[in-house]
Amino acid sequence: MANSKRQKFLLDENLNKLAKWLRILGYDAAIYKNISFLQRANLTKKERRIYLTRSKKKSKSHLVFSRILLKSDDYLQQIKELRELLHYDENEMFLRCTKCNRKLYYIDKERVSGKIPQRVFAHFTTFYVCRKCGNFYWKGSHFVVLKKKLEKIFL
Ligand SMILES: [Zn+2]
Repeated sequence: MANSKRQKFLLDENLNKLAKWLRILGYDAAIYKNISFLQRANLTKKERRIYLTRSKKKSKSHLVFSRILLKSDDYLQQIKELRELLHYDENEMFLRCTKCNRKLYYIDKERVSGKIPQRVFAHFTTFYVCRKCGNFYWKGSHFVVLKKKLEKIFL
């Protein structure tokens, strides 16, 4: 499935961990800091997102916008709650910066030389970079760990 057609989310600030995991799955999961609930509701509509919240009060608001009230405080449970909406595809993973929610770009191996641990450089050929924060990504052992966690939920 093309990334652009995937569901987009807007999360409350206290759902940082879930946002990170949605990004790992390849989803656009935005957290806008220091804005009002009304602004969040408007952005959800404008950007065609689904608003995710743990707040019953917010989920019952009379404002018209798509939203989901999450029951659990645990991010793995929260992913399970959203399971019907999410597609797990290994090829869609690591397409987004887990910190900034920005899309990652392929970067030539020579350009990461000296900027990542030597053993990583020696082992891997494909690297990605976030153009906002400059973070580098590669499908190393942490990728396998993340994949296993997700496979438990989705497969
Ligand atoms: Zn970033």
